[in-house]
Amino acid sequence: MSDTQTTKGNFYITTTLPYVNAEPHLGHAMEFIRADVVARYKKIQGFDVFFNTGTDEHGMKLYEGAKKEGKTEQEYVDFYAGKVKELLKLMGISEEVNFIRTTDEKHIQATKAFWNKVSENGYIYKKNYKAKYCVGCEEEKTDSDLVDGKCPIHPNRELEIIEEENYFFKYSAFEDRLTKFYESNSTFVIPDFRLNEMKEFVRHGLQDFSISRLKTKMPWGIEVPGDPDHIMYVWFDALVNYIATLGYPDLEGDFKKYWIEGETVQYCGKDNNRFQSSMWQAMLMSADLPNTNHVIIDGFITGEGGVKMSKSLGNVANPKDLIAEYGTDALRYFVLREVGAFEDSPFTEERFKASYNSGLANGLGNLVSRVMRMATSNGVVLNGKISEELKQSDLVKAFYEKQNKGFASYNLQIATEAVWDLISFADKYIQDNQPFKTIKVDKEKGERELGELLAYLDIIAENLLPILPETASKVSNYVKNGIMPEAPLFLRKE
Ligand SMILES: [Zn+2]
Repeated sequence: MSDTQTTKGNFYITTTLPYVNAEPHLGHAMEFIRADVVARYKKIQGFDVFFNTGTDEHGMKLYEGAKKEGKTEQEYVDFYAGKVKELLKLMGISEEVNFIRTTDEKHIQATKAFWNKVSENGYIYKKNYKAKYCVGCEEEKTDSDLVDGKCPIHPNRELEIIEEENYFFKYSAFEDRLTKFYESNSTFVIPDFRLNEMKEFVRHGLQDFSISRLKTKMPWGIEVPGDPDHIMYVWFDALVNYIATLGYPDLEGDFKKYWIEGETVQYCGKDNNRFQSSMWQAMLMSADLPNTNHVIIDGFITGEGGVKMSKSLGNVANPKDLIAEYGTDALRYFVLREVGAFEDSPFTEERFKASYNSGLANGLGNLVSRVMRMATSNGVVLNGKISEELKQSDLVKAFYEKQNKGFASYNLQIATEAVWDLISFADKYIQDNQPFKTIKVDKEKGERELGELLAYLDIIAENLLPILPETASKVSNYVKNGIMPEAPLFLRKE
């Protein structure tokens, strides 16, 4: 937006960057879609929005992955970054999204500048150390993290023993500041039980951690400024993307506009809470930069009965396959309405299909067909005046209240449900009033009722826009131009 336009404010939202060693899974898809819905909603509300996503492309796991596939590291990460971009398009993610790759020169320069700043401030030092490292997590493990001597998340991987001179980040220096920060920002992490996890985590004490590897052992990453024998730890590098995308180390321009003067929001999965809500926040403090305003934590999408999705169990859902079978908006609907806002939720194809049939085929799709059939066959068109009147009705007011509450608390399940409340109401209105019968005996009354239904559909379409953008545009076109859909919006799946 141009400077002459007044906006409600500046709003920054980012997903985490998926690590490009595999095709993105359903959990990634959920994170992208939810962030997209918030970005679109905020824009419609009048905010100037910066929406960021991208790919995390350094580290041991990718170095090993490339070797295994006989590719150069760059070829390997290019391939998977392409997969992520492809999925963004398939999921209907706004084309205005900013896509940053941690192999971008802009990111590399920002990360080096960030390192220098933290070092100048005295929070980086060098020492000899020995540690156990899980390449699966790209994370150092202490004995208390391990189960039977193995990483509980990657029990089939041998831990790597690191014994070398590394650079360390003085994480321990931020215990008090982080604790105070959590105490004085009760909605910093959403939901609150995830904030409590962070308070607990910091209360147990923070250990300084290694932020570099010897280049001879791990060459795939960003060189430590002034010491080319060392490569930065992948997390220290990747987290900086959130501000590199805004032009950091330039503290003017987009960085000032969004990170300093705007509201900043980061989406992530629950396994990322520590990295985003603690480690990254300490890193920001160490570079004299403002903290993130909110970190929103998604639960996991699991297999049936809460078991982890895994290739070996054959219960992995591929978002691309679901889109091919059911369509983009079916996937969006599922991760917004059916998957718990913050808790773990199971995925099964039956559950997906049931949600599609009830919410989309029988719900929204059926309503649109019925209303447009009645309206077009009786020559009734949308009356803008009725729409205005309805907007003041208790029903519609209650709708906006629920929608606002959902978005304000980042509970997109509630925000989505609000639209389906309206859909249910319109269904009931047809059942109670039977306008298709009324119009035969009392033309004026029947037309008024159909006009009212068109107005409901108009409100539904308007508020579906951030949620199911493609469907919303179609419905809006039918309603505004009095068009009967040629085919059902969503075909029922048997
Ligand atoms: Zn692990």
